[in-house]
Amino acid sequence: MPDEHAPARVVPPLSALPAPKPYAPDELRALDRAHVWHPYGPMPGRQEPLIVESAAGVRLRLAEPVEGRSELVDGMSSWWSAVHGYNHPVLNEAARGQLDRMSHVMFGGLTHEPAVRLATRLVEITPEPLRHVFLADSGSVSVEVAVKMCLQFWRSAGRPAKRRLLTWRGGYHGDTWQPMSVCDPQGGMHELWSGSLPRQVFADAPPDGFDAELDPAYVRHLRELIARHADELAAVIVEPVVQGAGGMRFHSPAYLRVLRELCDAWDVLLVFDEIATGFGRTGKLFAAGHAGVSPDVMCVGKALTGGYLTLAATLCSSRVAEGISRGEVPVLAHGPTFMGNPLAASVASASVDLLLGQDWEGEVARIGAGLRSGLAPAWGVAGVTDVRVLGAIGVVQLDHEVDMAAATRAAVREGVWLRPFRDLVYTMPPYVTGDDDVARICRAVCAAAREG
Ligand SMILES: *Cc1c(COP(=O)(O)O)cnc(C)c1O
Repeated sequence: MPDEHAPARVVPPLSALPAPKPYAPDELRALDRAHVWHPYGPMPGRQEPLIVESAAGVRLRLAEPVEGRSELVDGMSSWWSAVHGYNHPVLNEAARGQLDRMSHVMFGGLTHEPAVRLATRLVEITPEPLRHVFLADSGSVSVEVAVKMCLQFWRSAGRPAKRRLLTWRGGYHGDTWQPMSVCDPQGGMHELWSGSLPRQVFADAPPDGFDAELDPAYVRHLRELIARHADELAAVIVEPVVQGAGGMRFHSPAYLRVLRELCDAWDVLLVFDEIATGFGRTGKLFAAGHAGVSPDVMCVGKALTGGYLTLAATLCSSRVAEGISRGEVPVLAHGPTFMGNPLAASVASASVDLLLGQDWEGEVARIGAGLRSGLAPAWGVAGVTDVRVLGAIGVVQLDHEVDMAAATRAAVREGVWLRPFRDLVYTMPPYVTGDDDVARICRAVCAAAREG
């Protein structure tokens, strides 16, 4: 029997461990190149990543000056996530407080307040009828879980043939296998895998323009495809209103209402992937709010923890949850090791409270107005085919592939961090970005478009 009165095992004080020797920048770069994969990168790496030493507010501090800059204003929010900026006292406090209680415990057979509080909060702020939350460890995993929920729902209902997905072209849903299968089949990097991926049903990309009138021909196209494949479709999955990494395109929310009606009419589930659009980015708390429709399943991630830790969530309606639980296998067979991580959940709850406790709509609108005026000069740049802004998202599109290295360098010269891709130079700044910094980001986007 363990003796509960025995003295706790003595942990050596931190000072007993030798402090690791800091790397010189050149050494760090060489080791990075030799050993560390970067997103969508070759091995060894070809591009020289900038070394970030720390970050605070909207600024990244570099380990050594580049193009004369030792600080860069972040125009990317670390891929849509750092909406409150870096090193935020409220989020730091949430992380620190939880760290002193526990960083992690397994979620099988155990539960804890951080996860329960976050799940309850997510149910409160997402559209009805989403009532149940699966906490996943990344956006791609939350999409895998969404797909598994939909397929299992129909299997449990005795209709196992309903196991394909329909999406529209131009989308991005992550890099693991099911998400890859619904990414744009041409535009993405996933073409390579077309023979190995589940074959899904693709509609044409939705017509461009948030304010565009509904195109009846496109509605017919959607109706025709859904009707034709209804017997084998488990779900329609789309990014509502903004297609992010698939091409930064905006479409009318009216198409989401069309999808909702068609899915109801043909017995198909509707999944919204709000991983990029969630938490205010498009001007509504969730992009579904532009259309006033609710999906059966919804994924959130990215800004969920304010960019602090990796966490995502899949929410579903009671109809979906009960359907699964009535099946032959009455459980959802998914359970990541780090499911419900308390540290991430605590920071996520703090991030959501921080967002809702301020006039986030006003801040997003303010940044949108700054982007609109600051990016207008981009129309005068040779090769620019479109300049568009929605919420706190600004996009400049070119008639050619951007020279990423040249464009990035041009932005750095302006003191801004941007990460252009394909024919796009774009920005989605943290909501705490001041007007002067928004203007600076816009100058950098224009410079990157010119020199890229
Ligand atoms: C980023 C993204 C994902 C994937 O999320 P990860 O956390 O990178 O796995 C999925 N869907 C959308 C819409 C995204 O923007």
